[in-house]
Amino acid sequence: MAENVLQVRGLRKNYGNLEALRGIDFDVAPGEVFALIGPNGAGKTTALRIVATILRPTEGEIVVDGIDAVREPGRVRELISYLPEEAGAYKNMKAIDYLKFVAQVFFERREDVERALATAREVTDLGDRLDDKLGSFSKGMTRKLLLARTVMTSPRLAILDEPTSGLDVINALELRERIKSLARGGMSVLLSSHNMLEIEFLSDRVALISGGVIHEAGTPAELKDRYEADNLEQVFARVAGDDALIAALGTAGGEGGGAGVAS
Ligand code: ATP
Repeated sequence: MAENVLQVRGLRKNYGNLEALRGIDFDVAPGEVFALIGPNGAGKTTALRIVATILRPTEGEIVVDGIDAVREPGRVRELISYLPEEAGAYKNMKAIDYLKFVAQVFFERREDVERALATAREVTDLGDRLDDKLGSFSKGMTRKLLLARTVMTSPRLAILDEPTSGLDVINALELRERIKSLARGGMSVLLSSHNMLEIEFLSDRVALISGGVIHEAGTPAELKDRYEADNLEQVFARVAGDDALIAALGTAGGEGGGAGVAS
């Protein structure tokens, strides 16, 4: 078995003349949570969609558990699961029927379907509300359901684009705890988020991407150390070289001396 669950090398993606990814490299180890962070338009979703085999790269190598994702996307799809940022679900379907439908698409054996549903029930923690139609679900409930749908197949690698976007504090915390405990159980996670608290809480390692290039990578502690920062927001501002942002966030190094709290 390959050492890394995911290996990305020299990944490039052009949309016409636009170079969205300009040759990025990163790895994700078993049970590791790896985050891509960066400003809007940095290339995060493009990278995630390529790893999810939805987009083809212009150039580069993506290997999942030893399998080449460009040459054998079908085999890779059996190992991964993808939660898009703007995922939807069938509003007229009962939640439980939706989960069953997805599980049956993925698994043939009844016991595998049942196991996936048991996982989904646990992850959603929605109890009897699973018998309700998805159209009656709140945003938080839908997001939980979609996360459950993503992880219930026990993927080797879950690819989560902004997993808690639009959620209230409690729901976001619950979902983060879920993701963390699934990773402790051996599932690898590749995620993107704009929420630095989320990133610090969840990620073992982080890559800062901007303009389609990875500028920095390391553990949150390493990055904070390297940039003499109190938190990842400060690291982010310093890597982006945004003086106004640096001043607003303050720095542990002393120039701004602010509280380091962004609103
Ligand atoms: P955000 O944080 O805003 O979601 P992102 O880091 O996920 O941004 P991408 O969505 O990967 O960024 O976009 C990277 C670049 O590629 C942007 O300049 C974007 O406009 C461009 N892009 C993305 N998808 C397409 C597409 N289908 N066609 C053309 N250009 C695209």
